[in-house]
Amino acid sequence: MNHADHGFRTRSIHVGSPRDPQTGAVVPPIYLASTYVQPGAGEWGEFDYARSGNPTRKNLENVIASLEGGYGGLAMASGMAATHAVTMLLSHGDHIVAGSDIYGGTYRLLHKICDRAGLTVTLVGTTDPARLTAALQPRTRLVWLESPGNPRLSITDLAACAEIAHRAGALVAVDNTFATPVATRPLELGADIVMHSSTKYFGGHSDVLGGALVAKSKELFERLYFIQNATGAVQAPWDSYLITRGIKTLSVRVREQSMTAMRLAEFLRGLPQVKQVLYPGLPEHPGHLLAARQMNGVFGAMLTFEVQGDYARAKRIAESTQLFQLAVSLGAVESLIEQPASMSHASYDPQARAAHGITDGLIRLSVGLEDFEDLRDDLRQAIEQPA
Ligand SMILES: *Cc1c(COP(=O)(O)O)cnc(C)c1O
Repeated sequence: MNHADHGFRTRSIHVGSPRDPQTGAVVPPIYLASTYVQPGAGEWGEFDYARSGNPTRKNLENVIASLEGGYGGLAMASGMAATHAVTMLLSHGDHIVAGSDIYGGTYRLLHKICDRAGLTVTLVGTTDPARLTAALQPRTRLVWLESPGNPRLSITDLAACAEIAHRAGALVAVDNTFATPVATRPLELGADIVMHSSTKYFGGHSDVLGGALVAKSKELFERLYFIQNATGAVQAPWDSYLITRGIKTLSVRVREQSMTAMRLAEFLRGLPQVKQVLYPGLPEHPGHLLAARQMNGVFGAMLTFEVQGDYARAKRIAESTQLFQLAVSLGAVESLIEQPASMSHASYDPQARAAHGITDGLIRLSVGLEDFEDLRDDLRQAIEQPA
């Protein structure tokens, strides 16, 4: 069935799960075969070897491409494998501009792996598109954006940045892990490539690692497919199945978790022990108006706040919650808490942390699907304990 005219939730459920024509099973089987019988020597069917293509992975790739509105999708072994594949579009001497509020692992990839392949990198605060203009060089071939940023949830104007990058002849790739296509569809805003850590909201249950790319055009899709097949960091069949399953409830989870995040942001804002709450849904957040437009009224389920006091105080709060579990990662049904300075952003040196506003008092929450009242009470007891 062609689902092109169906809505987001219908496509989330049906595009990746075509009924099995052989048995009528409403969930297609997981294909584990590593190789496929060919019609003849030198003749190729749809599938030949599992690195080049696998039906279970294909279903996942189809649903991701549909939700992001691109020409084609590619499922990779992890988010970092997906990001790395994008950087492999570039050649020695090319230049990348990336936002300064990017995922820590992307920072590490760009500065410790891509540099050895002869790529140069400039980080700029992309919340001001003028800074992107200033950072462009004649050999800038890729602009890497992330909105909301991490951990301060800064909002970048993707359409404005894409226009600037395209005028300079650079490709635009957006890490859409935090926003998800429920809130933001970067290809509709001018981006060329969307990247996801499927480990997060796509999987949604903290039980699978994965990454995804969606290309807007056939030409770019084919170049990325060549890299996927040539370098081999593909998503395995079982993992592809789990992510396809997770995506069926993506929209309900993200919307519900975002509503709880909004209520927690309002609650935290009223506590005297809390210095500031960084949540794009709050009117005082510097990116609020832009987020209201760009995020489809869904502000996401990531929330960062800063407590009064020092490193030890923030550390103790992060260690004192019961429902919010102390762990990096995000995007699942269970709520998580972490201290960026000692956990997700510990690989930054102290000067870099200071430059990016990652203060010792910051605490980042991934708001899950539990009851708001239970999450609120859990945070209250952790924050109100004597200093
Ligand atoms: C987790 C994450 C990644 C990396 O994905 P992995 O699946 O862990 O390799 C990249 N970007 C963002 C925003 C992430 O949260």
